[in-house]
Amino acid sequence: MMCTVLAIDNSGLCYKVCSVCERTLPDNPTSLCKFCNFNAFKSASLSSKRLFRLLMSVASDTKVFTVICFDRAAKVLFGCSADEFFDFAKLHPFAAETTSKILEGEMFKMTLSRPKNGYAQHLRVVQVVPLRSEFQPAIESLKEFYGVRSGS
Ligand SMILES: [Zn+2]
Repeated sequence: MMCTVLAIDNSGLCYKVCSVCERTLPDNPTSLCKFCNFNAFKSASLSSKRLFRLLMSVASDTKVFTVICFDRAAKVLFGCSADEFFDFAKLHPFAAETTSKILEGEMFKMTLSRPKNGYAQHLRVVQVVPLRSEFQPAIESLKEFYGVRSGS
């Protein structure tokens, strides 16, 4: 399905998960995964990481609707991991807003699926392919915008 991005809800672009089992963690810097604690992971690998979860308003040729985009598909749009984006956004407070502006109006070929549970009210983006051959992921545009040289 061809979709144009109309808007991205930039209030919560990513969420924290346990880096071992990828269960969702509360957004509290000291919280560790209870499940993995029970299972006696005593190593330093018990930590958290971030994954993307985007709510986007998109338009097809017939309608406008909201989709949810999880980590794998969102990485195509962002061109980096959620942790990298989070670190970038810490240094550049308006990075999330700017990302929305960069991606708004961009056309993608999207594969959508109806979720079995959870965010059942929204279709889920399974795969996303940019239509423009010169499309560059948001992080590249952001680095140009903020004058950050990649690799530095
Ligand atoms: Zn865990």
